[in-house]
Amino acid sequence: MGKETVMFIGAHPDDEIFGAGATLAKLKEKGSKVIVVILSYGELSGILAKKDYVIKTRVREDKKAQEMLGIDKSYYLGLREGHFLEEAEMRDVCERLASLIKDYKPTMIITHGSRDIHPDHRATFKITVESLKKSGVKTKLFTCQNIWGPESSKEKKLGKMFVDVSKEFQKKWQALKEFKSQKIAWFFLSWATYIRARVNGWRIRKKYAEVFYRMKME
Ligand SMILES: [Zn+2]
Repeated sequence: MGKETVMFIGAHPDDEIFGAGATLAKLKEKGSKVIVVILSYGELSGILAKKDYVIKTRVREDKKAQEMLGIDKSYYLGLREGHFLEEAEMRDVCERLASLIKDYKPTMIITHGSRDIHPDHRATFKITVESLKKSGVKTKLFTCQNIWGPESSKEKKLGKMFVDVSKEFQKKWQALKEFKSQKIAWFFLSWATYIRARVNGWRIRKKYAEVFYRMKME
């Protein structure tokens, strides 16, 4: 992993932190440029609060967390949760994403896996692949581990890249604490993320690691 321009494409504000936060911090420290594109505002998470308020809160928390990891720039494309594919078509989101990819020419893109448990995450994978094809940019495409569930049987067969994040994991852990509006989800997901980082770390005889899968573009 040398100097890269990395683009993380996620479904919700916090996916970049859960899925790749420590790796993004590590890349940043090595002098890479890190761009985050989030396809929704995560507005469904605040069941009792007004939508505008939830959107503002989630973006504010996400930006604070990104700042802690040194992320250079982030974009929110505003797709409605649960309706990614039909909305993406209606609102030319693939065009927008393709033009961001063309502008930044990332040497590495990280997104969600095609077998992720969350439907918005699976839709994000599809939108990413389509936008990448549309952009014509040649790059390395990786997917992060399933955030809400275990590794799928298909993922078990893919080539894995372990990133030693022993030095950077604490940064990710602190960044996750910025999501104060996500109380219950934060508690379960962050501990699951912690345990996974320890287990991944143990596999490569380090303290913490994050895992990514290399995707082949036909
Ligand atoms: Zn998500």
